[in-house]
Amino acid sequence: MSRIIGIDLGTTNSLMSIFDESGSAKVIHNKEGKNLTPSVVWIQDKSKKFIKVGEEAKNVIGQEENVYPEFKREMGKATRYPFFDSDISPTELSAFILQKLKNDFELTHGKITTAVITVPANFANEQREATLAAAKIAGFKTQLLINEPTAAALHYAYSDGNDSNGTYMVFDLGGGTFDVSVVHVKGSDIEILASEGLQKCGGADFDKAILKIISKKFKEEFNEELDLGKSNFTITDAEEIKISLSALTEKKVTIVAEGHPKKVFTITRKEFEAEIGGLLTQMNMTCDNILVECEREKSKIQEIFLAGGSSRIPCVQDMLEEFLGKKPKLKGNPDEAISLGAAIYAGLKADKATLKAKQKDSISDVKLQEISPAFFGTISLNEQNQNSNSILINKNEKIPCSVTDSFYTMHDNQTAIHLTITQSPVEESDPRFVRTIWEGELKVPGDRPKGQEMQVTFAYQENGLMSATFLDVASGLKQAVDITAQSEGANSNINIDDFIVE
Ligand code: AMP
Repeated sequence: MSRIIGIDLGTTNSLMSIFDESGSAKVIHNKEGKNLTPSVVWIQDKSKKFIKVGEEAKNVIGQEENVYPEFKREMGKATRYPFFDSDISPTELSAFILQKLKNDFELTHGKITTAVITVPANFANEQREATLAAAKIAGFKTQLLINEPTAAALHYAYSDGNDSNGTYMVFDLGGGTFDVSVVHVKGSDIEILASEGLQKCGGADFDKAILKIISKKFKEEFNEELDLGKSNFTITDAEEIKISLSALTEKKVTIVAEGHPKKVFTITRKEFEAEIGGLLTQMNMTCDNILVECEREKSKIQEIFLAGGSSRIPCVQDMLEEFLGKKPKLKGNPDEAISLGAAIYAGLKADKATLKAKQKDSISDVKLQEISPAFFGTISLNEQNQNSNSILINKNEKIPCSVTDSFYTMHDNQTAIHLTITQSPVEESDPRFVRTIWEGELKVPGDRPKGQEMQVTFAYQENGLMSATFLDVASGLKQAVDITAQSEGANSNINIDDFIVE
């Protein structure tokens, strides 16, 4: 039995697919028989360290304490959540989701051999590291990531029977993030040309838009703020209304709030569309920008492939139809496209010796060319003696890649060199406008004149992760940096085997 899987670790829902023995990708349901597992963790019983992940946890949001939703948005940040007598990171909470999926899979299929986890294309280096750290905590042996729109492109190309030929746009709007990629597909040969996205644009924001509309109506009616803690209304109800408004033009909701009479409010699709208008405009602009970035005319885009549950929203599809002049393409469930593509990628990355003939056949022609999601550089003193950021790896550069550049010491008798790795979404030389993702120092022999050569090599791996080497040429002294090893979550104190995760 195949034990090669792809996992879509989403903001609101996670799911897994298998690359099965016939060489097809299929969604695998969880222990509860559902394809989607809500990405919500609930510490149900403190003393027994009993942790519920998924539907049951989602159902008690707002009712119980120690329930954690939407932590994917905090991945890679220093955010901590209260946990038993201490606290827990978003990385560790993600590990519980992965653990549940792993347990559920292994219950029926046996030990996973290869797993690929998806990340938004616009995830920064530290967010990718945090995802890998979560996989490590959950006991996954393989450390493989794929960008979500790339996985969706792979799914569409693969399930099209290799008939796709041309340039396509992948529009991926999930629970928490929005990604768009322009891809060139020829059969099962996929080249990513550019990726862009918004980190805070997705289903969770649309749920909040519904809540905002209801709160406004409540205030108009009772001249008081709606206090969710003192009413029957929860954010889960907001999500249900939002989903209904994809099929209906209006939806009624009964609000029972402490100190007020029961009241039925009607929410219309038009009101919802007006409330999310700002985000729609931003998504539209991102689609325009990405075409400029990869120097493609809109007329050259053959189709838009949809991925992510929120791509079902009618005004999102209308916006895309207006953008391209034709309806976007949907194949199957948009929320499954990413995990299905990740499973195919897992097949591609699995040990070939373990694959069955049909599996080998089905992926023998699949080729994938990924790109760097950002500019990576280093800060050095320029001739004017000012700090300046020099780019080594360009955004949208084909990966894996390795780039070496030389820098020179600026002072006589210099004994140390300050080292940096920076990341920026645009080409930027001013260090104030870039993010330093790693900093260090290389001690070098003193009593040397200025102008000593320092060779800096940045390597970008297929996983979307950076490593770097700083070499003082004359002395041979060097500093190698594997950013992944320094990930915040990699140093977790949690032993996942101490917990019962269901
Ligand atoms: P995903 O992460 O791809 O599973 O997307 C999850 C998001 O899609 C959640 O915010 C869901 O509420 C949202 N979603 C799923 N179905 C619909 C629908 N029919 N209309 C609007 N949003 C939806």
